[in-house]
Amino acid sequence: MNDKDIKQIFKDSNAFLEGHFVLTSGMHSPHYIEKFRVLERPEYTEILCKELADKFRKEGITIVVGPMTGGIILAHEVGKNLETIAIFTERVEGKMKFRRGFHIDEHDKVLIVEDIITTGGSVHEVMEAIYELRGKDFEGIAGVGALIDRSNGIADFGVPFKPLLVMDVVSYKAEDCPLCKKKIPITKPGSSGK
Ligand SMILES: [Zn+2]
Repeated sequence: MNDKDIKQIFKDSNAFLEGHFVLTSGMHSPHYIEKFRVLERPEYTEILCKELADKFRKEGITIVVGPMTGGIILAHEVGKNLETIAIFTERVEGKMKFRRGFHIDEHDKVLIVEDIITTGGSVHEVMEAIYELRGKDFEGIAGVGALIDRSNGIADFGVPFKPLLVMDVVSYKAEDCPLCKKKIPITKPGSSGK
């Protein structure tokens, strides 16, 4: 699949939203990607996760990890494809942790998967959770896969990072935002699904 095919899946699922949004970074943007429009469609999720799996098929991955919530679905589907274990991290009092007896062995090769990378913060938190389990000198993190990198080149994890799609994003500081100046109502996307 090429960039156009991947983009088409997001378009077909109505995941590309237009309007006036506050991003995770606090910046304002006329664009937002609602990943759950894609993740709620198993047939699309399956296709995208096979693409992600293909990018790491030669790495000898033994465990796929994703951060709750979107990352659970991706880890499961990529793990199915790579015939590995699939686990997830979740927030406990704000801190990303492994619960439910999830374990990573010292010989494991770990692939981290995430849906949309905006700042890369969640992936860094997953890495911290892995180091908490295995120690700071653990070298088993084989890479990071994502559906879309919209970090404008900021995301850097110190391991191979392979997004399916890289999208440059128009965003403004709140005080410079032309959409604010036009008094266009602003949306803070998140659990509300708006
Ligand atoms: Zn604004």
